[in-house]
Amino acid sequence: MLNKKVHELLNSQINAEIYSAYLYLDFANIFASKGLKGFAHYYNLQAKEELEHAEKMRDYVLSNGEKVSLEAINKPQVKSEDNLEILKQALEHEEYVSSLINNIYSASLEVKEYKTVEFLNWFVKEQVEEEDNANSLVEEYKLFGSSIEGLYKLNAQLANRK
Ligand code: MG
Repeated sequence: MLNKKVHELLNSQINAEIYSAYLYLDFANIFASKGLKGFAHYYNLQAKEELEHAEKMRDYVLSNGEKVSLEAINKPQVKSEDNLEILKQALEHEEYVSSLINNIYSASLEVKEYKTVEFLNWFVKEQVEEEDNANSLVEEYKLFGSSIEGLYKLNAQLANRK
């Protein structure tokens, strides 16, 4: 069993993680259409990671004998197709996701549902990494992305993401 409010928040988080995957797929589409295959590869992998996050949450809800209710996924809202603006939007998005995870964390603490707190610790740490990666990419792009050679190398580097 899960606390009702925590259960609802976890269900919406499953949706939010799938939306993240959707958003990153759209970023990958834009980069692919510009011929920046390394960037496209990076966001394709990022999208897969987001689906894994959703899967982890789904498993947790089901393991607790609760139902998972899937809702419609919103159309991805890409604010700008400019390279740097996309990287910035990814960072903004991860900061938003961190705030969502923090909300579920607070709600779990409030009702003393420590098993969920323990479960969410992994996500709290994961968000530090997600924000760091997104931020590094913005910084690297600012440093090197404005020259053709820099962009070429950055694209080649991102193509190597495993
Ligand atoms: Mg995620």
